[in-house]
Amino acid sequence: MAINAVDEPDAELDGLTRLAALFKSLGDPHRLVIVKHLFCGEHRVTDLVAHLGLAQSTVSSHVATLRDAGLLASHAHGRAMYYTLAHPKQIRRLILLADTLVGDGGQYAGQCGEPDVEHCDEPDDDQIRGTGNAARAER
Ligand SMILES: [Zn+2]
Repeated sequence: MAINAVDEPDAELDGLTRLAALFKSLGDPHRLVIVKHLFCGEHRVTDLVAHLGLAQSTVSSHVATLRDAGLLASHAHGRAMYYTLAHPKQIRRLILLADTLVGDGGQYAGQCGEPDVEHCDEPDDDQIRGTGNAARAER
C-alpha cells in the first residue's frame, strides 16, 4: 500500500512528529549519559550535574527534553525532584538496538550497568565510566 493512500496525512505526521521528538531527545551524548545513569536508579538534577560536569541550567534543559519526550518519570521528595526512566526496559532495548546499528557492538550496553547499582551518592569519573563504586570519595 502506498504511503500517499493515507487519508489523514496530518494525523500521520502528528504521530511521526512525536516519534521524531523521541529520537531527537536521545540524539545528544550528554542526554545518553543521563539515561545511562537513570538505568542505575533515580537521580536529582544535582546528581546529574556532578556526573556530567555541566552547568545546572544545561542539565535541567537536557532533563526537560527527555521528560517532554515521555522518557522520564519524576517524584518530589521534600524540595528535591527525583527522576527515573519511565519505561526502562523499552528504552534499554531501543538504545541497545541502535548500538548494534552503529557497529560498536554493545558500547552502550557495557556501560549501562544493572539496575540498583548504588553509585550515585558520591559520583566520580570511575562511576561515570561504570567501573563500580570501589573508589568512593570522602565528603
Ligand atoms: Zn549516577
